[in-house]
Amino acid sequence: MVGGERLSATVTRVLAPNPSLMTLSGTNTYLVGEDELVVIDPGPDLPEHLEAIVAAAARLGRVALSCVTHHHADHLPAAVKLRERLGVPIAGHRDLPHVDRPLGDEQLIEVTGAQLRAIATPGHTADHLCYLLESERALFTGDLIAGSGTVIVGDGRGELAQYIASLRRVEELLPRVILPGHGPAVEDAAAKIREYLEHRLGRECQIMRLLERGPRTVREIVGELYAEVPSGLHEMAARNVRAHLWKLEDERRAQATGERWYLVDGGETA
Ligand SMILES: [Zn+2]
Repeated sequence: MVGGERLSATVTRVLAPNPSLMTLSGTNTYLVGEDELVVIDPGPDLPEHLEAIVAAAARLGRVALSCVTHHHADHLPAAVKLRERLGVPIAGHRDLPHVDRPLGDEQLIEVTGAQLRAIATPGHTADHLCYLLESERALFTGDLIAGSGTVIVGDGRGELAQYIASLRRVEELLPRVILPGHGPAVEDAAAKIREYLEHRLGRECQIMRLLERGPRTVREIVGELYAEVPSGLHEMAARNVRAHLWKLEDERRAQATGERWYLVDGGETA
């Protein structure tokens, strides 16, 4: 939509033309503020998208800052272009490439007409931040939560536990609406966060139930839990199962001998 789509008095969305299975309808770039603007997730390096952001901003005010949720190529690169073109500094996690203003957890960002709070939410990536627009209780979730479907969680050791902790963290902020990096705005934020938690914890529960019936390898668990999933996706499923097993091991609820996993005595099904 030319000039972006007005979502509220202080939030305008510009959709990037990068639709795909992973990015849904494309990356959502948000312009937040009045007169002075924060651009949340400038998006992919596509000249037409940069033009759309600049055109939308020209009607709304002066771009003061880019706030990036994480380093992925569909969120960060246009921030670098916006800096080259308009001198807009880049804010984000201290490990975000190209960052000019490193943000700590709970740090406030203020422009005319808007105050945002950075929330450290690792799991999708280690450098992931969400941004809370206090006045509207709107949470910009980047790739922590999508407008529809689920998101990819990092499959390194500890990342799934971090991801679940991040969901619990944003649940406590009691956001009203979720403005995700991809997909439509979610009006019932609490229900969406619950749905995401139940999805992850439900899978964990299934794995525990299988292990209660006896020790199993990752491959065996995948075979039982993902029977209807095309075998081309089994490698991805195996990484997901392994991430759950690592989480259970770190919590001393499961253990492996060789390739076979089993429940630790006293390990209870959640
Ligand atoms: Zn991402």
